[in-house]
Order: sequence, then structure tokens, then C-alpha cells
Amino acid sequence: MSDPEVTLRGVLMSKGRRCSSEGCRCRRGELHGPYTYLAVYADGRSRTVYVPSAVEAAVAEHVAVTQRNEELLAEVSQINLELLRRRALE
Ligand SMILES: [Zn+2]
Repeated sequence: MSDPEVTLRGVLMSKGRRCSSEGCRCRRGELHGPYTYLAVYADGRSRTVYVPSAVEAAVAEHVAVTQRNEELLAEVSQINLELLRRRALE
């Protein structure tokens, strides 16, 4: 495990956005952006959080670290489950 304190679960995504201006080109399908969002699933619901470009690289890194750590935890859990089956868990 590395840097658990930066854990940030989610999926980075990029999407265009409509503004509130009636006559704007975005009403004809030319969306603003694209902007970066973090799609987060928590407490039984998903939402997207806007990611300012100034922190986009840091967020991407933290999301990647989190994914690696969770894969590691899943592996350790599998090993411990196997030990439990063999009654070898300490
Ligand atoms: Zn617009």
C-alpha cells in the first residue's frame, strides 16, 4: 500500500456542459468545455464533482494510487480467505 492518506475513490471523466444563456451556441449542441469531473459512488448514490484544471493532475494521481491500493487489498483478502479455508489463519 502506498499513500493511503491520498485515497480518493472515483472515476475521472470529461464532458461538455450547457450554460443558462438562451441564445448560446451550446443550445445548438456546441457544448462548453469539455470539463473534468470525478464520478463518485457513495452512500448508495452516484454524483459528479467538478475537478478544477489546477488540481486535475493531482486528482488523477490520487485516483490511480487508490485503484492500485484497492487491487492490493483485494489480493490480500483473497489470500486470507484461502488461509481461512485451510484453517491456517493466525
Ligand atoms: Zn452556452
